[in-house]
Amino acid sequence: MTSRHPFILLPVAVLFSLLAAAAPAAETRPNILYIFSDDHALQAITAYGNSRYAEHAPTPNLDRLAKEGAIFLNSFCGNSICGPSRATVLTGKHSHINGFIDNRSRFDGDQPTFPKYLQEAGYQTAIIGKWHLGTRPTGFDHFEILPGQGSYVNPDFIQMQGPNKRYEGYVTDIVTDLTIEWLENQRDPERPFIMMSQHKAPHRNWMPAERHYDLFDGIDLPEPETLFDDYANRSVALQQQHMTIANHFFWGWDMFLHGEPTDPRFMDGLANGEYARMTDEQKAAFDAAYGPRNQALLDALEAGMSDEELTRWKYQRYIKNYLRTIQAVDENVGRLLDYLDEAGLADNTIVIYSSDQGFYLGEHGWYDKRWMFEESLTMPFLIRWPGVVAPGVRSEAMIQNIDHAPTFLEIAGVEVPHDIQGHSLVPILKNEGRAPEGWREAIYYLYSGEPTHRVAAHDGVRTERYKLFYLPDTDEWQLFDLVEDPKEMVSLHDHPEYAGVREKMEQIYHQLRDYYEVE
Ligand code: CA
Repeated sequence: MTSRHPFILLPVAVLFSLLAAAAPAAETRPNILYIFSDDHALQAITAYGNSRYAEHAPTPNLDRLAKEGAIFLNSFCGNSICGPSRATVLTGKHSHINGFIDNRSRFDGDQPTFPKYLQEAGYQTAIIGKWHLGTRPTGFDHFEILPGQGSYVNPDFIQMQGPNKRYEGYVTDIVTDLTIEWLENQRDPERPFIMMSQHKAPHRNWMPAERHYDLFDGIDLPEPETLFDDYANRSVALQQQHMTIANHFFWGWDMFLHGEPTDPRFMDGLANGEYARMTDEQKAAFDAAYGPRNQALLDALEAGMSDEELTRWKYQRYIKNYLRTIQAVDENVGRLLDYLDEAGLADNTIVIYSSDQGFYLGEHGWYDKRWMFEESLTMPFLIRWPGVVAPGVRSEAMIQNIDHAPTFLEIAGVEVPHDIQGHSLVPILKNEGRAPEGWREAIYYLYSGEPTHRVAAHDGVRTERYKLFYLPDTDEWQLFDLVEDPKEMVSLHDHPEYAGVREKMEQIYHQLRDYYEVE
């Protein structure tokens, strides 16, 4: 009998070694669905808890993600514009290292990115929707992306091969359709995936889906307290930018009015290009909704509308359209969560919702982003990871977009290369949102300036309580106490009682510039 043992043991040993070799591929590693939108401010997500719009424009599906997973309350970008934030997400490096400094840059796709590392590790990598990095995606098994900013209405998509394809309909719905189509029919179900499902919304010019044209009609949405900010007590650069609701909206592009402006308080020269893309039927629906409201404005202008009344009107037109586009994003997040449930993928798929940076929803009288003030510095970050992240976690850890790539690497079992500047969030996720010992206490920010909107270059640091930044053009420093002055209305840099804080913050500023190798 004993002589037969080798014959029995050999196949078992072979079987074991086969099982061991097959284990990583037979997959314990989770899938990742990364839903990423464009310019979605925290103030417009109910789960963040301080939304002025919670009553009229709730976000139930995003809130579901927060409820079933974690919400990060101190999540920041490193450079508050589209392309740079996306390049940072891909590389785990700040703009001055990955080379994508402002929206005039083109992404160097030869450099290492997390999709390339994940591909090597056996993940399928896919991206659908907004890309906006100038060059073609590298490191993806599948992509179908919008050219440049893309269009809301009947959008064109760049294909991996062949000419662009045009789909009739609304871009946010179509991005989700294409995402589900790939998940359902095109991926290899034997291997884990990362799918980046990236929306154009709620980017300018805030064109809603037809089904949302009448949402919020007849009501006034709440205004921010700082809608009429006079920019006193802070850098002179605040008065010099071109991103005010009062003075810097185009008659056609932003405000959806036809023809030439009848009032000099609107900018001229950029028509509503989305309207031009519509079919006759779509145009008729648009005109039926916006026509009477536009006529009411024309009548009011004719009757001598005051500057203040007009700014309030522009704010309402802007914020309603912005929130309408977010309703479609929220609905489509719900569609994806439902799909994961139905396909049996929910338990082993991490779902993240984030956006490339925040946005001004009338705070300081502004729209747009770029500034290191809270509304555009922050980035939403919601994550559901069944079995790892406890439901309802509210994390106060200081995280940044440099952390997304190393997080994906750790999830995929890839060692994080030393040249990546961010840190994996996995230890925080496994520890109910609490940062481990030695985690960063400050984040670094650098906006290098570009002609658009004329926002001055500045760089700085933010801790849990304070923010310090420097504007080289005017050689000015700004210091804010976010507990005493959360709306950032007074720079305390020259206040003697803040001398100690200033000194400490300057130290952190120089330390972080060294650490991140800022020239
Ligand atoms: Ca953006």
